[in-house]
Amino acid sequence: MKCPRVLHVASEMAPLVKLGGLGDVVGSLPAALREVGVDARIVLPAYPGMFERLEAQNLSCTPTGKSVHVALDWRVYSAPLWETSVNNTPVYLLEQPELFSDSEVYPRETTPLATLPFAFLSLAALEVPGALEWTPDILHVHDWPGALVPAALKWHRHYRNRRDDYDTVLTIHNLAHQWITTPNALNIWGFVKESFTIEGIEFYGGLNALKGGILAADAITTVSPRYSWEIQTLQGGMGLDGVLASCRGKIQGILNGLDYTVWSPETDPLLPAPYRVGDLSGKTLCRKALLQACGWEENDRPLLVFVGRLVEQKGVDILLAAMEDLLSLGTRVLILGSGHPIYERALQEESRRYQDLLHVHAGYDETLAHLLYAGGDMLLMPSLFEPCGLSQLIALRYGTVPLVRAVGGLADTIIDVDGSPDGNGFLFSDYTPHELRRVVERALSHWHDREQWKIIVRHGMEQDFSWKHSAETYKALYLRLLGN
Ligand code: ADP
Repeated sequence: MKCPRVLHVASEMAPLVKLGGLGDVVGSLPAALREVGVDARIVLPAYPGMFERLEAQNLSCTPTGKSVHVALDWRVYSAPLWETSVNNTPVYLLEQPELFSDSEVYPRETTPLATLPFAFLSLAALEVPGALEWTPDILHVHDWPGALVPAALKWHRHYRNRRDDYDTVLTIHNLAHQWITTPNALNIWGFVKESFTIEGIEFYGGLNALKGGILAADAITTVSPRYSWEIQTLQGGMGLDGVLASCRGKIQGILNGLDYTVWSPETDPLLPAPYRVGDLSGKTLCRKALLQACGWEENDRPLLVFVGRLVEQKGVDILLAAMEDLLSLGTRVLILGSGHPIYERALQEESRRYQDLLHVHAGYDETLAHLLYAGGDMLLMPSLFEPCGLSQLIALRYGTVPLVRAVGGLADTIIDVDGSPDGNGFLFSDYTPHELRRVVERALSHWHDREQWKIIVRHGMEQDFSWKHSAETYKALYLRLLGN
């Protein structure tokens, strides 16, 4: 059987650059693929500070001596290629400081000129094989930043001639981001004008890069099985449900895995004390450290933690609306997140009202995130939608019981304690503060029975959401595309 050669094209990869779950996935999936016999490699932009970060992590990075050249907006942009290795996976870095000048990674606007960095990433990825002595069979792209790869193989003046050289896989991590811009970007990218149709990249008079990628890719995956059909519905399709439903034959949901070399309480170097399923004394020490970090005394209230982006998707609206109720039920709530300033401000205002019961840390803090997962009792994840969600998988492993809304990957991974003897968490359906309050009430009724709570915790900690199974499923998809 052939060993598929797969080049991943991505905008994030932990630990080099991570803004959310996409970074976690690209940081761990290629390594898991290599373990099951796929030659997976990654191409990634060298954002500001990337070389310094590599050095700080003792990762050596060497120039390949080769460069890629891409025509965009009627000029040629070049990028020397650097090579490093993360988790035994070769990573090619594109050094193009003029285009990748923003340490925040993603542009705040979607004007045609703001699209240049990620148009460059996609087209440069098509030049990487020519520059290296390694040619992939498959280009596996992630979300809108890579969506122009399959689209270019179909509609770019130059690259459409290379259509037969590769199969393409597009993974949708989050349909909310589609990269919609104005039609003059076609010229800037070098796409033929025939692509500007309803069967092409056109979208309500503008351009939609993700739509182009969806139509042109040979296969589409979503990061959980349930999300693969949610996005084909009016409610979850974000305007692309019709397009996706027309492609349903090539869509497959493959659940994300979790990298247990990073996320295991037995070995986590960021925790004040390790612990494992049979001995949770370390978890008690983590709780102490967490209370101390908040400036709180122990008062035996259950700690409800939230770790995530403060955006509409994560259910911050109903969390805010239910906050007073949740605290009145006898809980304490700890929130770590960054995102929309309106949410950050509203949460901070609430935390001033309930100083001893609600703690809000606005910002991104990896160490504190680990402490919240370890020191908490329950994880709140009231998401409006959730393509997969990693936080609930992390919480399970850390013995922190997830209370989640039954959508996307949350519904695929959490089994309600009140519905099954194998329950590992609690689910609610309606997106209302009232339902959020009710799920917390239900969880608390079990929490008070400490022996039963230990069983729920154990179920979660013993579950295996590692990458192995998902990596095998991706491999089977690659082999199918290659005709094996
Ligand atoms: P999404 O990809 O939608 O942001 P996921 O649940 O898939 O959500 O993944 C989020 C990842 O980012 C998790 O590893 C979570 O711990 C981490 N994370 C989110 N916000 C923060 C934050 N403010 N500080 C530290 N880690 C965070």
